[in-house]
Amino acid sequence: MEKSEIIELLKENPAETGLFKKADEVRKKYVGDDIYLRGLIEFSNICHRNCLYCGLRRDNKIIHRYLMSDDEIFETAVLAKKLGYTSIVFQSGEPLSFNIKKFLELLKRIKNETGLVITLSMGELKKEDYLLLKEAGASRYLMRFETSDRNLYSYLKPDSKYERRFECLSWLRELGFEVGSGIMVGLPGQSIESIADDIMLFDKLKIDMIGIGPFISNPETPLKNFNNNNFELAIKTLAVTRIVCPKSNIPATSAMEALDDNGREKALMAGANVIMPNITPYNFKDKYILYPGKSIFDEPYEYSVYLRNLIEKLGRKWGKGPGNSRVKEGL
Ligand code: SAH
Ligand code: SF4
Repeated sequence: MEKSEIIELLKENPAETGLFKKADEVRKKYVGDDIYLRGLIEFSNICHRNCLYCGLRRDNKIIHRYLMSDDEIFETAVLAKKLGYTSIVFQSGEPLSFNIKKFLELLKRIKNETGLVITLSMGELKKEDYLLLKEAGASRYLMRFETSDRNLYSYLKPDSKYERRFECLSWLRELGFEVGSGIMVGLPGQSIESIADDIMLFDKLKIDMIGIGPFISNPETPLKNFNNNNFELAIKTLAVTRIVCPKSNIPATSAMEALDDNGREKALMAGANVIMPNITPYNFKDKYILYPGKSIFDEPYEYSVYLRNLIEKLGRKWGKGPGNSRVKEGL
């Protein structure tokens, strides 16, 4: 698709362009009816960065910081297995000091004992560390580039470097990870043109899993007064991304659900084929607040039943395999 066509679809009314229907057809043709479930474990909210949009930023002094113990992490991974999820995603802030040796042992133990596909989302690390994590059993890594607009990136992530983010993504690719990335939609100062650039970049970088969520302004951050009305544009962005990147895995993100009660369902009907249900234990989940509106009360088992029913209602199937990227396999 030409950039001008992408922009048009992002600007126009989806009821008139038939965007969601088209995206749903492309999803069905290229990745099928399976919906893959990946248990999300928010194992630490400690972060040394100060991203303007995020509730875990270091200047947010009101949250209690935690790192789950090895046993707590292990037990949560076992729970994912019991719930029938084929993959787990470990997400955290970016800690300054981190006992990587201990974490590597834990990953090996989880891999050996559960056989789950392990995905990590821990931000920017050294190349050597990515390699060690890969050797310990992690095979996928999620790191959004957030926006391809260099100036906007520097404004939103004042202590991070744009080039470094992309360098990390290319290291991850080189080391053989399935690479996930993504953006927030509706960021202050973000133009439709730059969202079109982001979508074209997903295609250029052959991103295996593309996470798209609305920006949600967080009252504990400097962006507290910005507009929160980003659901519609986010779901249009997801749908156009499905058409431009037909083989990628695309999750129906929690941020979609935070802004709209049926947000996940709408995303699944507009091109998404993955869900990452949150299985973080309750006493930690309420401290991992990137943005407000996140559902912290869902009990993991009950939520898995809800998802099973939702998948059935949509006439889709619960993907039982690992849900490997078709981009990487070149299928
Ligand atoms: N520290 C890691 C992973 C945790 S943050 C990292 O930064 O990569 C995970 C994602 O949450 C971010 O990539 C960002 O896209 C999203 N996020 C953070 N704050 C948000 C907000 N206010 N609204 C919507 N999404 C947000
Ligand atoms: Fe830290 Fe990630 Fe939040 Fe930035 S987005 S403050 S790196 S947790």
